Amino acid sequence: MAKTRPGKRDLEFYTIRGTNKVVRAGDSVLMRSSENEKNPYVARVENIEADVKGNVKVKVRWYYRPEESMGGRRQFHGIKELFLSDHFDIQSAHTIEDKCIVHSFKNYTKLEDVGPEDYFCRFEYKAATGGFTPDRVAVYCKCEMPYNPDDLMVQCEACKDWYHPTCLNMTTEQAKQLDSFTCSDCSSEDVKRPPNRNSASSLVNGKGEHKRQKR
Ligand SMILES: [Zn+2]
Ligand SMILES: [Zn+2]
Repeated sequence: MAKTRPGKRDLEFYTIRGTNKVVRAGDSVLMRSSENEKNPYVARVENIEADVKGNVKVKVRWYYRPEESMGGRRQFHGIKELFLSDHFDIQSAHTIEDKCIVHSFKNYTKLEDVGPEDYFCRFEYKAATGGFTPDRVAVYCKCEMPYNPDDLMVQCEACKDWYHPTCLNMTTEQAKQLDSFTCSDCSSEDVKRPPNRNSASSLVNGKGEHKRQKR
C-alpha cells in the first residue's frame, strides 16, 4: 500500500453514499453547500485518502461560479459557467452529492443538449486577486462582448461576425425567422463585395442552441 503520511492511505476511488457512482482523482463533483441548497459547490477531486479510522477525505480544487468571483456575474457569463480556482481544500467525502462534467468551452458549445450535470470552464481564477487566465478573449457583435453560449446570435454572411438580436434592434423571434443576415457595416459596402450569398446556412444558431436559452 502506498502511504502518503503515517496513518493515511490513498484510495483509488470513493463510491458516493447511496449510489453506485464512483469518484476518482480528476473527476468533478457536486458538494453539499450549507448556505445554498439549490446550488451545490462544484470541485475537482485532486486525491482521495482514508485515515486510520476509515474516514474518507478528498482534496479538492474549487470551481467558482461567476457570482462567487470578485467581479460578480457578467452578461457574457453562461448559466453553467465555472472558473477553475487556485483554492484547494480538504473535505469529508460524505459531502459529495453527485458527479458532474465540466466541459471545455468548445465542447460545451457543441453539446446537443445540456443536462443538469453539464458545466463548462474557459477561465482559471485567482481567488486572492480576482484575476482571470486568459485575461483576454475573443469578442463579438457591436457590443464587443465575449460569447455567452446561452444567448442566440446571428452570423453576418459577409464578415462572419456574430451579433445579438437585441443589439440589432431585433427580437429573438425575428432573428430566428431570418433567412439570411448581413450586418449594417457590410451592407453599406455591398457594391464592392463579390456575391457570395448562396445560402442561409450561416444563419444557424449553432453558437447557442435555442433550447439552451431557458436554462
Ligand atoms: Zn451585442
Ligand atoms: Zn458583416
